[in-house]
Amino acid sequence: MIAEFRGSPTSDKYKTSIEGWLNTGHNAVVKTLGPVAQEHIPIQINVTTTAQEAVPWGEVIRGKLDSIELRVNKFSQPETLSADWTLYHELSHLYHPLFAYPDFWLAEGFATYFQNIVMLQNGIYSQDEFIRRMRDGLARGQKSMRTYPGRLDTISSDMWRLRAYQRVYWSGVGFFIEAEHTLRKVNAKYTISELISHYQRCCRGKEREGHVTSAQEFVTALDNLSGHKVFNPLYQRYRRTQSFPQISNEQLKSLIHLYTH
Ligand SMILES: [Zn+2]
Repeated sequence: MIAEFRGSPTSDKYKTSIEGWLNTGHNAVVKTLGPVAQEHIPIQINVTTTAQEAVPWGEVIRGKLDSIELRVNKFSQPETLSADWTLYHELSHLYHPLFAYPDFWLAEGFATYFQNIVMLQNGIYSQDEFIRRMRDGLARGQKSMRTYPGRLDTISSDMWRLRAYQRVYWSGVGFFIEAEHTLRKVNAKYTISELISHYQRCCRGKEREGHVTSAQEFVTALDNLSGHKVFNPLYQRYRRTQSFPQISNEQLKSLIHLYTH
């Protein structure tokens, strides 16, 4: 990772501590998903003095080499930084290609799912905290159905204007929980994180980015790697769905079993 600093001027000591946080965060994501396909990750750090949160903003900038932009609170302590989910979320996005707008639920579901798995697997969340975060997020998604009914792909296309983040992000998380569950039911050899790790070596970088079929190609690649037809049928169902996924506590507990044993 190559960090570049902007915004409020900072000392070398501060820069070193930020670089330490970025490296630890990167290692945590690699522990869950394996090394990302791209050779290095440019990170732009915008240092701010006015934020409440440790990392109030993050985003992936897609390009020949994808990069990450993070806004970081100048006064945050290292513990608060590593407990913030933004870095894990943005790093996870680098493992999948850019999808078209109607498939943004798949992208945001992916990053939100793995941000939580990474934090569980690296002991940043306890098992109870993991369950609580997932339950709370899914409850926010369910609640948002009243404000944002309609097909998931339609709502995803217009997510920013509508501010329909909870519906889009947490429906996508539901997709990955259901996919993980179905993989176990068909006795698949790999978890989703292992499939993503394989996907980095076979396929990442060869996709058509942001194309109308990018998501379809992504889920098909995962099915080919797993040797089961799990992701594609689920994707076809989710993009048209007008209801919120029903996830049981048993399904959440099985994620803990899968990722901490
Ligand atoms: Zn995201």
